[in-house]
Amino acid sequence: MALKLKTISDNSIFRKYNINIDDYLLAINNNKIDDILDYYFYLTTDRKKIKFSFQKSVDNKIVNCYIVNSDYFNAGIDFYDFKVLRCGNNCVFCFCDQHPKTARATLFFKDEDYRLSFLYGNYITLTNLKDRDYEKIMKLKLSPLYISVHSTNDEIRRRMLGANYKFKILDKLRFFAKNKINMHTQIVLIPNYNFDDLENTINDLLQLYPNILSIAVVPVGLTKYRKNLTPLKKINKFQALKVLRIVEKYQKYCFEKFGKYIVYASDEFYFLTNTALPDYSIYGEFEQLENGVGMASKFNYEFHKKIKRYSKKFNRENHYAIITGKMVENFFYNISQILNNEYKMNVSVISVSNQYFGKSVNVAGLLAGADINRTLKKLYSEKKITDNTIILLPANTLQYNSDLFIDGFKMEQFPKNLNIKIIEPTAQTLLKTLTK
Ligand code: SF4
Repeated sequence: MALKLKTISDNSIFRKYNINIDDYLLAINNNKIDDILDYYFYLTTDRKKIKFSFQKSVDNKIVNCYIVNSDYFNAGIDFYDFKVLRCGNNCVFCFCDQHPKTARATLFFKDEDYRLSFLYGNYITLTNLKDRDYEKIMKLKLSPLYISVHSTNDEIRRRMLGANYKFKILDKLRFFAKNKINMHTQIVLIPNYNFDDLENTINDLLQLYPNILSIAVVPVGLTKYRKNLTPLKKINKFQALKVLRIVEKYQKYCFEKFGKYIVYASDEFYFLTNTALPDYSIYGEFEQLENGVGMASKFNYEFHKKIKRYSKKFNRENHYAIITGKMVENFFYNISQILNNEYKMNVSVISVSNQYFGKSVNVAGLLAGADINRTLKKLYSEKKITDNTIILLPANTLQYNSDLFIDGFKMEQFPKNLNIKIIEPTAQTLLKTLTK
């Protein structure tokens, strides 16, 4: 496949070999380079000289560059992103299938790439892995990987993934464990699918300790766009309580046996059941934060730990309003009460109902810009916010590296008179912002 050069700096060592943008890096020390992981892997060598083989894009000629291996040699090159592998599943709960037809094409794209799992913590199901991929995972020691297990019962798992894969998931996980590839795992829980199998799956996964680093249980997310899709039920309060009991039982067991908690329920289970959040300390390194596991406890802990320090500089002239989703409305209401009652601040909470995806999608990260806009306009007309209110918008409501919301609404479409500040959804950022 080779790596195509996107940039090359003026003082790159490869300039003297006449290497240019759009040329291809084929190999390092005769090892084929397919992606950026190969590049870094084969670059790490004790050899005194490293051989880089390029192919010129103008005439396909091969150019070999012999570079003295030192910490200081200036490669000065950057590559185009590699082609991401596509997902071959048809999961009954796939979020990509639950957007309105008018949504941007990229939101429908189903990727599943073990390299992105290693690099960015994307979840993979292993159904599209070829033998050569397993070989590469072993060779490059791509660990940890993030694996969607859902169930260790393959019959149930196949039903959930809508895929007729031939292997046994436990065999693959055992193979990784045997080869010292560590795994973070997730179980997306769906009533009438894997719900009754939860304990079996947790038990099976725990057999693979210490290579199983964490097991996150998350509830299935259902939007209102499920026409022509398999009918699914969401987790109800009673079921969520049952999950919490199971998770707590295994946390206790794991802590006694391994000194770590390993099994976690995502924050949604606690909010859905009005259960007190677990202590911050159970989450260890917060390795499943992206999955909504431990976010609220972390926020709470940091808020209380740092509030005194920041309070000395709090700006008590301003009115601040924190935008959030329905799920954590009460959580932020309590935060605002502490700020207002104990620190004489003026902080309110703007809870936005998700009409874009439907009310059952109530996390801040999936709020649509149009819903936020409508809520802000209403509050403005009711004089609950004014031109002077500093409106705090969590950065995770925006698509990565853009000013676009999930519904295509742009930041610039908000009324110009509103003072909207984008902030990272952490306690420290909130507290810091309240000093300005
Ligand atoms: S693995 Fe399933 S949920 Fe993930 S993208 Fe593929 S079909 Fe969707």
